[in-house]
Amino acid sequence: MSALAKQLRLDVAQLTDVGRKREHNEDNMAFVIPKDSLVMASKGALFIVADGMGGHAAGEVASEIAVDTVSNMYYQEDSNDVAVSLLRAIRRANASIHQRAAENLLRTGMGTTCVAAVLRGNMAYIANVGDSRAYLLRGTHVKQISQDHSWVAEQVRAGLLTEEQARTHAQRNVITRCLGTQAEVDVDVFPEELHEGDSLVLCTDGLSGLVSDEELQRIVEQFVPQESVYHLVERANENGGPDNITAIVVRVQEVGEEPPGVRHPVPVGGGREVGEDATTLIMPPVAGLAMPARNGEAFASGNHYFTSGPLVSPDSDTAPQPVLPAKKA
Ligand code: CA
Repeated sequence: MSALAKQLRLDVAQLTDVGRKREHNEDNMAFVIPKDSLVMASKGALFIVADGMGGHAAGEVASEIAVDTVSNMYYQEDSNDVAVSLLRAIRRANASIHQRAAENLLRTGMGTTCVAAVLRGNMAYIANVGDSRAYLLRGTHVKQISQDHSWVAEQVRAGLLTEEQARTHAQRNVITRCLGTQAEVDVDVFPEELHEGDSLVLCTDGLSGLVSDEELQRIVEQFVPQESVYHLVERANENGGPDNITAIVVRVQEVGEEPPGVRHPVPVGGGREVGEDATTLIMPPVAGLAMPARNGEAFASGNHYFTSGPLVSPDSDTAPQPVLPAKKA
């Protein structure tokens, strides 16, 4: 790296809150901004938010493993390809959670969403599994970068529900992909070019479901990140705070230059996803695979995880039995 290469400069704040209805906070978050300028130039800064499920204890553990594993493994990856390293780190987290769940019956079915972003040079790479979100804010524009892996989002993409209907739909808590419940997981990675003054917001559905895009944009534009996270959480609580609320706000003060010779990811699958790499961890299948219970509630059929079904006791020592969605009241 030339000493004259422009360095990416960021202002960051994060905040998590239990909300007004729940007793425990199963969300987790973390960020890493390497102090070493060479590491910052080659690997970039990492931000991650996870929303655990499986009931208290399981959900907290799953989201914590996700946050810890991804933020550690990403920097241990030899590859300077951000998307590939991020993908591998998230797959490692998936395998770790899946293994922990297999070791302890009380944690059977634990899982977590995950939205992670690496900012390096003039690029952001956003990876997600589940319905925690990443937004890019530029001027007065708000763009949701991540695509929710949720039942309502699939209905919207298929043209069967409007965004507005999805927001209030009874099944809006149903997610179709998460970390920890299967031995392998598909991860979507979205590359985005960064401009000076851009803001990136990572959050759980306890925020995105309660604060509109317009409100989010107004708050993040008006305040510095340290104040923005506070106001975002406050707004979600004012709107009822039914769920745990987590937000990371990153402001791009100055974009950097990409390290020389970096390979940009080759987009596949409609230009949004990064393809398979050779690092998939194969775990043995686990008997009695159960469904995650995000926010203490769950329901499952096939690969769909219903987070608004009958209550599952986190202390139960028997795995909850699958119930067909059709039987749901
Ligand atoms: Ca949540």
